Formats: sequence, structure tokens, C-alpha cells
Amino acid sequence: MTALSADWVLPLDGPPLREAHVTWEDGVIVEVAPGRAERHLDDAVLLPGFVNAHSHLEYSVYAGFGDGLPFSAWLGTHITRKRKLVYDDMLVIARRGAADSLGSGITTTADYSFSGASAVAAAELGLRAIVYLEVFAGDPGVAEGQFEATRERVAETDLVRIGISPHAPYTCSVEVYRWCLSLGIPVGTHLAENGSENEWLEHGTGPMAANSAIFVAPSGKRAVATLADILCPELLCAHCVEVDAGEIALLAEHDVPIAHCPRSNALLGCGAAPLAELLAAGLRVGLGTDSPASTPSFDIFEELRAAVYIARARERRPDALTAEAALRLATIDAARALSLEASIGSLSPGKQADLTAVSLAESPYHPIEDPAAAVVFGGSPDRVLETIVNGQTRYRQGETAWQEVRSTASAARRQMLA
Ligand SMILES: [Zn+2]
Repeated sequence: MTALSADWVLPLDGPPLREAHVTWEDGVIVEVAPGRAERHLDDAVLLPGFVNAHSHLEYSVYAGFGDGLPFSAWLGTHITRKRKLVYDDMLVIARRGAADSLGSGITTTADYSFSGASAVAAAELGLRAIVYLEVFAGDPGVAEGQFEATRERVAETDLVRIGISPHAPYTCSVEVYRWCLSLGIPVGTHLAENGSENEWLEHGTGPMAANSAIFVAPSGKRAVATLADILCPELLCAHCVEVDAGEIALLAEHDVPIAHCPRSNALLGCGAAPLAELLAAGLRVGLGTDSPASTPSFDIFEELRAAVYIARARERRPDALTAEAALRLATIDAARALSLEASIGSLSPGKQADLTAVSLAESPYHPIEDPAAAVVFGGSPDRVLETIVNGQTRYRQGETAWQEVRSTASAARRQMLA
């Protein structure tokens, strides 16, 4: 048995505990209770490992590509540069993504993967993941061929599950979505990310018309309506920015899980997803960092703050998203969105021992008054002391450096910039 205590423990499915410990055995939590353990972290908060509801580990060094360009031009830059890489480059980049995630206290990620490299990298570094292999096709036969080719490269492990990602309703037909959902594995997509998507799908016009060759034919309907026949609790949808009241009701009726990515949506100029309305409709929403292709980092703390800033600004209410509610979006709520809430997302006996320890020493939030606010507003990857997945330490401040991982990933980025 292993036990770890801290000045505060935030189980997230119960009230905060002052000076408390978490004990686990064989990777499973057996006790969460007040009292110090032999190993105690002063000035720190122990909480469930963060669950990232949307990432692309394979884009960890795409930072700044096409920044400030309109959505379709940004996508064009990204695709052109990605073509300069071979699979081994994608793997070294994905390793960096997995390292950055663990360094930010993320213990589980829902990763949409172009090459499958994310699955290999996550398994190697000990990051729990659902890796959704991407397909881009109008014809289910073509999608099947793409999936089989990528699937051959990857293996499921104790930590890594394989799913499939029909990329978006403008790159995949409804028939392809239906085929993906028939496989009985996790399915994730991008949905209603920006206005030009709706414009293309409904009218065949707008900025996306310039690249029409890479998209499926317009459906004559907006993005959510395009997928109306196949919306279901098994289809994880990233973004959902451009959704009106009727579309939110439709998503809720089908219990569609949503990954909310406020930094990505803001930086690409897509907008701000109606988080308050999505939550009020009873939808399962998890927080996602997306990737450095659109956001600066896999820094979940920055994502938490962005979620709070944008929700409060949009609603003009300081209680639109509390620090604790934001933390839930990045832990237990994200686990629910991935249908993993029985095994991860909170600190309670019987769940996997996935934990993150955050130090608030010498921060403006020390001494700690409200541990949730201290973590959300005062936290950063620099303050992550330790990240534990399945009871095993996968990152420890000052000890885990991943120098080789970083230098090989930089070399791959240099190649893209050449
Ligand atoms: Zn994405």
C-alpha cells in the first residue's frame, strides 16, 4: 500500500479535506481520509489527475503555425507543414505532447490522432488515453481503409484504448459517421467549431468554398442538423461553439458529450461556446486543451482560467463558472463525457489512483483559504509536484526532465519550418 498526504485534498466528489491522505494498492484507491501519511506534501493540494477531453498530442510542436489567419487558411498551413513529416517524426512529437500533458498534471487524455503515434507515445510515457484514430472520407469503404492502415501501428494497453474519429461533418459523410459508430469503440469528432463550417455545409459558400476539393459536399443543413440522425451518447463532440438554442436542445435530447476548448476557440477567432447553456441543458461537458496547433500549450491551468474568464465575461456574472465547477469540468465531468466516471475523475475508493499534487508555496494563494480557487487561479505546470497514473509516479518535479523527448521533437519542428 502507498499513501500520500497534503495540506489539502480535493476529492471533487465530496467536500475538500484539510490535511488528508490518499492510500492506494495495485493502482486502485482504497482510502481518502483526514490525517497525514508518512509522505506529506506541505503547502500543496492533492486532487484527481486532470482529464483532458480534447487533445492532439501529435501537434505538440505546431505552436504558432498560422496564428492570426482565418480558420480555413490556418488549417491550410497546418496541413501543408504536416505533409513534411513521416510517421517517426509524428511519434517524437507525440512523445513531447504526452510529456507536456503529464507535466501539467494531466493523467488521462482524449486524443484525436492522425497517425496513431499518440497511442504509442501515451503507452510509453504512462499517460492514460483514449486515442481516436482520424478518418477523412465521404465513402465508408475509404474510411475503413484509412482506419485499418493506422490501426495496424497501434496496440491497446492497460492505459490506452483505441477509438475512431470521423474528423468533422465537412470532411466526413453521415454514412462514415454511421460506420464509425457501428464499430462499438469510442468515437469522437469536431462539431460546429466555427461559422464558416455552417456556411459551407448549409450553402456551399464562405471561406471554405476555396478548398472545396478536400471537403464532402454540402448537406444543405447546419453542422448539428447534418449529424441529427446519428447524434448519440457515444459520439464525443469537440467545440460546439456555433450552436443555437434548438441545436443545444437536440444535443441534450441525444445526451451527446461535449469537449469544451475555450482557448482554442478564442485564439482561432471562432468564438465562445455557450457553456452556461450547454450545462443548463444537462449536457455532459469536459474541458479540453486542444493542441498547440491552435492553443499555446497543453497547460490545463491556463485552460481552466480561460474557461472561467470567458464564461464570466460572456454571462456578465461572477458566478457563471466557479473555480470548483471549472475543476470539475477538467476532472469528474470530463470523465463523464468520456464515459470513464466509474474508474477515474475523482478521488474515491475503488477508482484508479490517478492523482496530481500542486504546490501553492510562495504563491499569492498561500496560505491556502479556498483550495479549488488556489489551484485554478494560482496553479501552473511549474507548480505540479507530481503526477501519478494508476498508482505510479509518471512525473516528479525536478526529477523527470524528458530532455531527449524535447530535443527530438524540436528537430521535427525544424524540419516543418525548413
Ligand atoms: Zn481538435
